[in-house]
Amino acid sequence: MIMRRYLLIALLLTVTLGLTATAYRPSTVPNPRATDGKAFVANPDNILSDEEQKAIQSIAEQLHEITGVEMVTVALDDIGDANAFDFSVDLFNHWGIGDRETNTGVLIFFTMQQHDIRITTGNGLEGLLPDAVCYDIICDEIIPVLRQGQYGEGLLVGNQVICKRLTTQHALEELMFGYRPKEPKEQPWKGLSLFALFVAMIAGLAYWAAPRCPQCKKKGARTKDEILVYATYTATGRGIHHHTCRSCGHQWDEPYTIAKRTRSTSSSGRGGGYSSGGSSGGSFGGGSTSGGGAGGKW
Ligand SMILES: [Zn+2]
Repeated sequence: MIMRRYLLIALLLTVTLGLTATAYRPSTVPNPRATDGKAFVANPDNILSDEEQKAIQSIAEQLHEITGVEMVTVALDDIGDANAFDFSVDLFNHWGIGDRETNTGVLIFFTMQQHDIRITTGNGLEGLLPDAVCYDIICDEIIPVLRQGQYGEGLLVGNQVICKRLTTQHALEELMFGYRPKEPKEQPWKGLSLFALFVAMIAGLAYWAAPRCPQCKKKGARTKDEILVYATYTATGRGIHHHTCRSCGHQWDEPYTIAKRTRSTSSSGRGGGYSSGGSSGGSFGGGSTSGGGAGGKW
């Protein structure tokens, strides 16, 4: 009788310890960058098959190559009683997902035991991936697949949909040319005068660099740029200036080369030697989130 009671207690203890031992905290999730400096997938519980993991990795690599966006997929078995929203935000900031300057990181976060799926976005993606869009992707694209028990497929679909959305012509222009970090709010007059100076400089430069019409030899043309091949971190791009002379209306084209993209100095300094998370993570670009995105239960 006593023996049986001890056995029961021992069993309960084992179960309890077992459960608490497998539940992750944001700081205990193995950072895939610890072993692979290009990894975009954390799959410590083998929820994804090798093929699914490779497919997701390949999409994320291409997206990063083209846009600089770091899209990270994390699939965990159990986070215990933790709130999945808080967990994903903490993990995002702990690892520093996304470029430090542009804050264009995405975390696709899946937990098996909690039946939770969420997309958390860096502050720089709130325009291209607003919360409502994330919510639609979760509900319309990912959850129906997860409910069929196809977890890897669901996460793959999520990656595909987001990648597609971030590589439209409009998105590429915003990600590559349009985005500027928000100016600090204080001293608006200073910002304004600096901005005016900037505009004047650009205008002066533009006139100096303006093409001369090959027909009437006057300066002053309207120019529309058409990008044929976007530049990446490893290759230059190509485009065409379509000029229209303001004086005589003559139209002519001028091909040009787009410089390779460069990483911000703060993140290039840490390139190569990825470490497995000090207190600030430091394995990805150093980006942060204030909790944009959406989540749902499958
Ligand atoms: Zn002309």
